[in-house]
Amino acid sequence: MKNLATRCLVLALALIIAPPTRATEPVKVVASFSILGDMVRNVAGSNADVTVLVGPDGDTHSFEPGPAHASALADADLLVLNGLGFEPWLIRLAAASGTKAKYVTASFGISPRHLSAAERRRDEDGHGHDEDGYPEAAQDFDPHAWQDLRNGVTYVQNIAGALAEKDPDNALVYRANAESYILELKKLDQWVRSELAKLPKEKRKVITTHDAFGYFGNAYGVEFISPLGIGSMAEPSAQALARLVDQVRREKIRALFIENMSDPRMMETIARETGAEDGGTLYSDALSPAGGPAPTYAAMFRHNVPALIAAMHKN
Ligand SMILES: [Zn+2]
Repeated sequence: MKNLATRCLVLALALIIAPPTRATEPVKVVASFSILGDMVRNVAGSNADVTVLVGPDGDTHSFEPGPAHASALADADLLVLNGLGFEPWLIRLAAASGTKAKYVTASFGISPRHLSAAERRRDEDGHGHDEDGYPEAAQDFDPHAWQDLRNGVTYVQNIAGALAEKDPDNALVYRANAESYILELKKLDQWVRSELAKLPKEKRKVITTHDAFGYFGNAYGVEFISPLGIGSMAEPSAQALARLVDQVRREKIRALFIENMSDPRMMETIARETGAEDGGTLYSDALSPAGGPAPTYAAMFRHNVPALIAAMHKN
């Protein structure tokens, strides 16, 4: 009998001492693409289970979600998205999944880059109709805001705020993690500026697959020229391609890059036509897999910037 009483006491004490399950359960976060997934992991540490919808080397613009993505979203507490028209498939997926997740738009509060007339024209060329017959909306804004590290800081602040609100018990952890991560991103921003400042202004021109580097170009003073529009799906017309080839020859641009999430064939043709040299892979809309050259948001800049500079030296 004494033994049973002791066991009951131990059990009762265990129930009192054990923290409530809710506080120990990680927050279930779904991030729309790999770069946001990395930011969430930096802020949340082990306090969140992170599922990424569009994984490494994936193209978010043309992504087609499946049943596994809907069920990940159905279970989620928090959905982190880029916004600015980057995930045109997400509203429909969220509705189909019946998710009750709270949304956080990571780009909220940045100054969005308006598309230039030429960018808008190229983008509109590429838009058709979706499966329900609705015309796909043309973009007003450039969604690739994370390519300016100062915007990356805003993304991290938004993510940390949403995590703290969802899981107030760990709010201090999220704030502290976000602060040290933001410090890292601010140092990286300074490094990008000082590296690019070493290159004469007239050499700072690059050809890339699609218009993913508008924010990078504005922030760090590099001109990017692309055959594809903002959305990556558009096929350029023969005339548009010929105009681009002329410009590359005229301005003697040798720096050419193929983005990790895009079809390389068109860029190989441009390289052949113009004598521009393939500078390697740039990571624009997706990270590399773990073990690759750009498995994190910060590593993406540490890979892209020296590659860009080496290629632009040849201009
Ligand atoms: Zn893109």
